[in-house]
Amino acid sequence: MTQEEVEYQKEFYQNASQELQERLERLDKDEGLSPATVGKRKHELICAHRLKFGRHPFVCSKCWSYLPVCVCHLATRSSKEWKYKNLLQVLVWTHHREWGLTSNTGSILGLTLGNNDASSHVVDTTHIDPSTDENNPCRLLMKGLPKHDEILQNILDDSARKREGDDESHGVDHDGSTLVVVLWPSSNPENAITLPQLRRELEASDPNNCFDSNPHEEVSDAMVSSSQKKIVLLAVDGTWRNARRMVAKLPSHVKRLDLDESTIRWNDSKATGDENSPSEDSSSMLSILAPLRRRGPSGKENQKTDLKVNASSLDNEKRQVCTAEAVVAALHEVGAIDTELAQQVLYATQTKVDRVRRYRGKVQ
Ligand SMILES: [Zn+2]
Repeated sequence: MTQEEVEYQKEFYQNASQELQERLERLDKDEGLSPATVGKRKHELICAHRLKFGRHPFVCSKCWSYLPVCVCHLATRSSKEWKYKNLLQVLVWTHHREWGLTSNTGSILGLTLGNNDASSHVVDTTHIDPSTDENNPCRLLMKGLPKHDEILQNILDDSARKREGDDESHGVDHDGSTLVVVLWPSSNPENAITLPQLRRELEASDPNNCFDSNPHEEVSDAMVSSSQKKIVLLAVDGTWRNARRMVAKLPSHVKRLDLDESTIRWNDSKATGDENSPSEDSSSMLSILAPLRRRGPSGKENQKTDLKVNASSLDNEKRQVCTAEAVVAALHEVGAIDTELAQQVLYATQTKVDRVRRYRGKVQ
């Protein structure tokens, strides 16, 4: 960026922040509104501002790294390489406080697995919203932003509605057109789904498999039923505490998928990361995100989503992984993405973490 562009960007951002501030103050002065309505509208304004302008004038709108250390160029393969494209969709449900953070890794999923076209990336003052594209295989939704909340609610409503009147089974007590699975442990076997079960659901719904398994089935019927089926993998992105609250709000028919240690660590033997990465040994690292955030079982505000909230402290700490790692592990395990694409996502994630850390001055 030239000095002129830097100044422009600063001024643009300051003006937008000031405008937001004035709108918030106007709401405070509006005596016709109840305190609850004022609070709700303020929250919506802040979320909308965050979507449009991000958190900081010099943070990339796509990868959420600082602009000088943007990692968008690392997303070289596209969502076309998904095996279950049009069938499986990843929703990264991001808490509004998490949205836009340079320490966030969910943004890398949208960049590497979604239709968020990084090749056309230019330094822009306006953030685009690729989540409105319902065919995007990986969408980021901000919790608290009304239009994103509505998208998720519609999907949840749809999955609830379609469950009624279904009579065919693939081994899971759900056979509707939309199956929503959240990456989160479950203490209740009734709403749990295992990776093999999820894999079977995908294989049974894949139009490419229909002809092999049902050779006598009418082609048109197979195509119609397949085209209606959709599986949504929901990843909750926020601090441990916020993520737990978000999961608690999900309806009970949402299936929970827990990942075991070996699934999460599928890539441990292979190093990923920046070529100049300082001294991390991938086998000893608990999470790619570890250098940017404190971890631990205490549930502190800056603690990242972990995957085993009810486990013992030690187990808990071992199993903490960042959002990108968890989603990649699940997608790789069910065969939705191949090893090369999975490693590319992890590499981009690791590189973002390394570069942001260096940029913040934590490493010389
Ligand atoms: Zn970027």
